[in-house]
Amino acid sequence: MAYKVPDLRYAYDALEPHIDEQTMRLHHDRHHQAYVDKANAALAGTRWEDVRPRELLTRLDELPSELRATVRDNAGGQYNHCMLWRSMSPQGGGEPHGELGEAITAAFGSFVAFSDELKQAGVSRFGSGWAWLVCDGSRLAVVSTPNQDNPVSDGRVPLLGLDVWEHAYYLRYQNRRPDYIDAWLNTIDWEVVAERYAEVPRLARLFRSLNA
Ligand code: MN
Repeated sequence: MAYKVPDLRYAYDALEPHIDEQTMRLHHDRHHQAYVDKANAALAGTRWEDVRPRELLTRLDELPSELRATVRDNAGGQYNHCMLWRSMSPQGGGEPHGELGEAITAAFGSFVAFSDELKQAGVSRFGSGWAWLVCDGSRLAVVSTPNQDNPVSDGRVPLLGLDVWEHAYYLRYQNRRPDYIDAWLNTIDWEVVAERYAEVPRLARLFRSLNA
């Protein structure tokens, strides 16, 4: 089943002033679509075409070498951006409460300390890539990845991904990546992130079985 770019659950301009409408249109309609088109073209007619992106990304070493880099970049682009659109909301921002909030405080000391660490990971990622809140075994951590790599390929469960490719911010923020990250944090739908956190035990078992 070919990949598709999912519709946004909010209007293109709904994340203003933090993320501007033109950036959302280009990012969602053009950049994400390009990953989907390239992934579909590469996977069509192969035994991998019905495998979901998340599973492909945990099994990259099983892919034939002529497919591996294309799948890593473009199935990665599909998985990462589907997560991203769901992670943002016009009603976003603030802090997580409940189990996720407690886990963040336990791992980082405070929500502010976590936000600073995620921002630093995004700012210091050289070139294009992502910064992530992940569950690594039983603990939360911040990591960053280059290009469209996803932490699932390293056996970690991604909870929240921050896109620091220039296409995510350059129209409004130009070279001011730190300002973009500060603004983006106001769009996070922590209820969605908390739902992912609640799924960690099941996903961790799934990834282990796929990597076995
Ligand atoms: Mn992007």
